[in-house]
Amino acid sequence: MELTGVSLLIVSAIVTAFGLVVGSFLNVVIYRLPREGLDVTKPSRSFCPFCHNQIAWYDNIPVLSWVFLRGHCRSCRAPISIRYPLVEILSALLSFFIFQAEGLTFRYIFYFYFTLCLTAIAFIDLEFMVIPDILVRPTYLVGLISAIAYPDKSPTNKALWIYLSELGWNPRLISLAGAALAFLVAFLSLWLLSMIYKLLKGHRGLGEGDPPLMGLIALFLGLSSILPVLLLSSLLGLLSVVILVFSGRFPKSGLGLRPIPFGPFLSLAALIWLFWGQRFLDWYLPTNFYG
Ligand SMILES: [Zn+2]
Repeated sequence: MELTGVSLLIVSAIVTAFGLVVGSFLNVVIYRLPREGLDVTKPSRSFCPFCHNQIAWYDNIPVLSWVFLRGHCRSCRAPISIRYPLVEILSALLSFFIFQAEGLTFRYIFYFYFTLCLTAIAFIDLEFMVIPDILVRPTYLVGLISAIAYPDKSPTNKALWIYLSELGWNPRLISLAGAALAFLVAFLSLWLLSMIYKLLKGHRGLGEGDPPLMGLIALFLGLSSILPVLLLSSLLGLLSVVILVFSGRFPKSGLGLRPIPFGPFLSLAALIWLFWGQRFLDWYLPTNFYG
């Protein structure tokens, strides 16, 4: 169904509002998932982490409530992190732009889910230096289903595609194999990298959750995304260290410097590559590159 004019406008508004509401729930996931003893679904109502008062529905409206309360709890006046409206706005933007690219399809759901997971992983890793398995593992399944459902949009390597179709493979199977291969290459390269680093330096340079996260990213974005995402995330990480050092805010722990999590930068680089990767390649490579 092709949407045009007013109906497109209305659906876009609904999709964006849906993104805001989902973002509000994502905030709950980001807060509760890494904290022991807290369940994502119970209690169903949100509460203030300082005074434990339940938050009324009118103080729980995405973005607006935070603005009206000027970032403070109504009962105890404790500050509410700017992360809350940020996550809601980000989620609304993701929902809108993925809808623009995919329309109202299952692919919209698959990729919106994928980007929400990246967002949650980024904020949880930033605060707790951990990437919860529960965010990564089910999303592998979503990526594999997406690869089977949409072989025509598969980012599978062209040469591999031609080779396997000449062997008589079904397009859905090729798309699935492409996603699985991308996962394996991404996972193994980051895992090897962390092993080599550990051998040379005697301590871990990467978090345990980073290879599975890179695998997940490649599963959705394809083999060709691995190098650009790794380069971009390293650049972003380096840039943030420089900024932190020069602003005198580099986090310290005990004697040494506190390690910086890599997950947020991998996630951010993956989002950038998802939305602008193809445009970058079109600009960077000659038009007849794909022959
Ligand atoms: Zn409070």
